[in-house]
Amino acid sequence: MASLHALLGGTFDPIHYGHLRPVEALAQLTGLQKVTLLPNNVPPHRPQPEASSAQRVRMVELAIGDRPLFTLDRREMQRKTPSYTVETLEALRGEYGEQQPLAFIIGQDSLLTLHTWHRWHDLLTLCHLLVCRRPGYPTKMETPALQSWLDTHLTAQATALHQQPSGLIFQADTPLVPVSATEIRQRRHQGQSCDDLLPPAVIDYIEREGLYLKSFT
Ligand code: ATP
Repeated sequence: MASLHALLGGTFDPIHYGHLRPVEALAQLTGLQKVTLLPNNVPPHRPQPEASSAQRVRMVELAIGDRPLFTLDRREMQRKTPSYTVETLEALRGEYGEQQPLAFIIGQDSLLTLHTWHRWHDLLTLCHLLVCRRPGYPTKMETPALQSWLDTHLTAQATALHQQPSGLIFQADTPLVPVSATEIRQRRHQGQSCDDLLPPAVIDYIEREGLYLKSFT
């Protein structure tokens, strides 16, 4: 069977160490060789990113330039209409074939709200879910039914992720990285430094482009 391939979807407005560091640790823990970053095309009815699609993609490129674990997939950005994660995973499953182990990486905050995603029950028919810890979010699901769904699919064996194409959830003991894109944007609005929160090449780009200066208060 081909080696496990994982994807991390996100708005990346901007990409930061909270995306990169837990996933690097996850790769060590699970034997992942490749992680594809998949910037979202944000639906018009949702709050729009402050950076343009091109700027968000450029920041991802700059962040991963010296991190060979990561690659970038621009497919969601190239669409005229936003796509749901489940649809992107269906397209990828078609490309990789039925046998390829595929995983979608999420933070604990996303696991807690996964049941609000479009066709969320189909996700595990298409991929595994790899969950990174995130500070400030409970470890238990909201309801007994959701907890039971989680328990049914949980595995503690990283090797199992390589042995079947989809269907498992792995909660990884990744480092807690207390960073969010919201905090970065807020710090910039308030004229504070973000030096410790994201790669220097991305900070330079943000400064050159004058991003996140508008105050929303
Ligand atoms: P925002 O603050 O704008 O909502 P964000 O920082 O949460 O953004 P996203 O691009 O929305 O970043 O996140 C993409 C994915 O990365 C999500 O699955 C999210 O759970 C995960 N993620 C983001 N930040 C962290 C973090 N600090 N630790 C673990 N996972 C994270």
